[in-house]
Amino acid sequence: MSSRDLDWHSPMPPGFRWPDGVRAAACFTFDLDAESPILFEHPEAAGWLDVMSHQAYGPRTGVPRLLRLLERRALRATFFVPGYTAERWPDVVRAIRDAGHEIGHHGYLHEGAHGASDEATEEARLLRGLEALDVVAGVRPIGYRGPMWELSYQLPALLARNGFRYDSGLMDADHPYRLAAGPGPNPPTLVELPVHWSLDDWEPYNYLPGITGSGVIASPADVVARWTLELEALVAEGGLFVLTNHPFISGRPSRAAALEGLIERAQAVDGLWIATAAEIAAHVETLDLEPVIHEPPALPATS
Ligand SMILES: [Zn+2]
Repeated sequence: MSSRDLDWHSPMPPGFRWPDGVRAAACFTFDLDAESPILFEHPEAAGWLDVMSHQAYGPRTGVPRLLRLLERRALRATFFVPGYTAERWPDVVRAIRDAGHEIGHHGYLHEGAHGASDEATEEARLLRGLEALDVVAGVRPIGYRGPMWELSYQLPALLARNGFRYDSGLMDADHPYRLAAGPGPNPPTLVELPVHWSLDDWEPYNYLPGITGSGVIASPADVVARWTLELEALVAEGGLFVLTNHPFISGRPSRAAALEGLIERAQAVDGLWIATAAEIAAHVETLDLEPVIHEPPALPATS
């Protein structure tokens, strides 16, 4: 928290601006989870063909459909890929790369950070994910998205130390910002591209009995209507719309078709810059923004 006076009059944060002619930005992202989140949470599911096939839909069927969609819309997207997924589906990851999309880091086996990892464990996972993407696709990502968007307070410093330039997973802003990556004066910084659960396809669509979801599966028309409201409101505020889809979820036909309608609509908005996460981060790096420092809140004293 800052001790300066709160300036609440403008929706734009102090010092923030988009490139000339741009009034807001949108970034379409895909998390290529495939089997990895299920195997991390439920290793026994490796022996369940039904569940594995549900997850394999992403690389096997969803990604090709989404690549065709993105090609039709002449849109470059950002795919966050766990290292394990890259090793298991190397041709798919190379096809994403060859189609011109950005590839970001998404853990090795989609390890959530709430499992109280120490720094050494977190860094080992980071390096293992980097190595897999390098070996499989010769890619060195500059962006990170925590699996399940889970992030420890120590992770930004690990990202900065390992050459990352942005993170996309925090939820405290509508605009990108400069994220202090470490304690003390003049820490290294990253760019943060904030997200939110309401702009993620997992909650409305995903259902695996006994594993995730309630079994109530939303209509793509309703989901895209909700996303469109947020897009329009964020454009009015001059913010950044980051949509997160998963190929095993939104690669299904009617969901992909509804998503294409949303992309078409976004492409028709005057002054909306649609770019990869790396392109947006590179713009934010040119701005003179005061870093946002995150510190864990102190718990109140017990009486
Ligand atoms: Zn994920």
